[in-house]
Amino acid sequence: MKIPVGDLEFELLIPYAQIETRVKELAKQIETDYADRKPVMVGILTGSFLFIADLVKSIEMTTEVTFVKLASYFGGTSSTRQIRDDFDLTIDIKGRDLILVEDIVDTGNTMHYLIEKLKVRQPASIAVCTLLLKPEAVEVNIKELKYVGFEIKNEFVVGYGLDYREEGRNLLGIYRRRS
Ligand code: 5GP
Repeated sequence: MKIPVGDLEFELLIPYAQIETRVKELAKQIETDYADRKPVMVGILTGSFLFIADLVKSIEMTTEVTFVKLASYFGGTSSTRQIRDDFDLTIDIKGRDLILVEDIVDTGNTMHYLIEKLKVRQPASIAVCTLLLKPEAVEVNIKELKYVGFEIKNEFVVGYGLDYREEGRNLLGIYRRRS
């Protein structure tokens, strides 16, 4: 089925049922890994808002949830490698275990930028949890990348938080651009 978003057409890549199952698996993995700690879940807006909501609902332990806002695609369909810092963390993260929750790691530049920025504030640890990873697009290796929902090809996707020109974030599944 074709789904129009803006001037582009998309088709289903990952149905929501599959996302739900995978998110629950990631939540269990995080619960096990952080059994004796209280991590701070840091959502990277806007794209991660649905993912982090489902993820924290599935984690059966208390966590803190907070957000930063970064932008890097600026309405296009490929990475500009320029990062705009819209808003920062408001809590003290010194000595805390951070889990950065991202919608997608593409070139890795956004995540690298954020990790370097947060490291200066001396958290106890940083781990990255991303719903999607495009292994063929990675330019900067992120050693903190510990939890990956799905690996996908190097193609443009929308849905479940991800947008095309701010549209399509509310689609429940992940949709890929039709070529
Ligand atoms: P990176 O810095 O890793 O190249 O890009 C990360 C950011 O680019 C993501 O947080 C997301 O906002 C955006 N991005 C990367 N790939 C896609 C994609 O396929 N679709 C959408 N909508 N955004 C993407």
